[in-house]
Amino acid sequence: MFLAHLIYFSVPSGVGDADIQNICDISNANNSIDDITRSLMYSGSYFVQILEGSRTNISKCYTRICRDTRHGDVTLVGFSAINERRFPDWNLRYIGGSQLDIRIINRFFPKGFNPTIISDPNALRDFLWFASQ
Ligand code: FAD
Repeated sequence: MFLAHLIYFSVPSGVGDADIQNICDISNANNSIDDITRSLMYSGSYFVQILEGSRTNISKCYTRICRDTRHGDVTLVGFSAINERRFPDWNLRYIGGSQLDIRIINRFFPKGFNPTIISDPNALRDFLWFASQ
């Protein structure tokens, strides 16, 4: 198996709590089967997600995600081979808006949370890692 990670951000489109719960339920079920681990952050203005797993499985998952009308402007930030997983639990790491640590946001985004200004995928991965601790 070729282990890889994929990082993207997107803009939520009319999602409410029920949509988030549905996304979590479907994702947990699918990702468990596909041995995909991940972290998903929902800030209200953006989704940011990292997927880790076999490059075939995360490619298929990303294709499904891109078709989903619950968000738009899905922007691929990085896709690369990795030696080990940074988010080893297959369970969803959903970082909801109210749970976000403002100190971590300020450290990575001094002018306010905005993933569009990040060019280095590893910086976004590090942000997700710190935010999900
Ligand atoms: P089906 O369930 O057959 O649905 C058919 C189509 O409708 C698909 O295009 C689907 O995206 C869309 N759809 C499904 N439910 C709704 C709804 N309630 N409202 C609007 N459109 C809908 N899936 C994963 O497997 N793993 C993930 O890690 C993952 N992360 C996600 C992160 C985000 C931010 C979002 C928005 C979705 C995520 N999903 C994830 C869900 C993914 O987009 C698919 O809905 C899911 O994988 C099922 O795919 P399917 O082709 O079997 O779709």
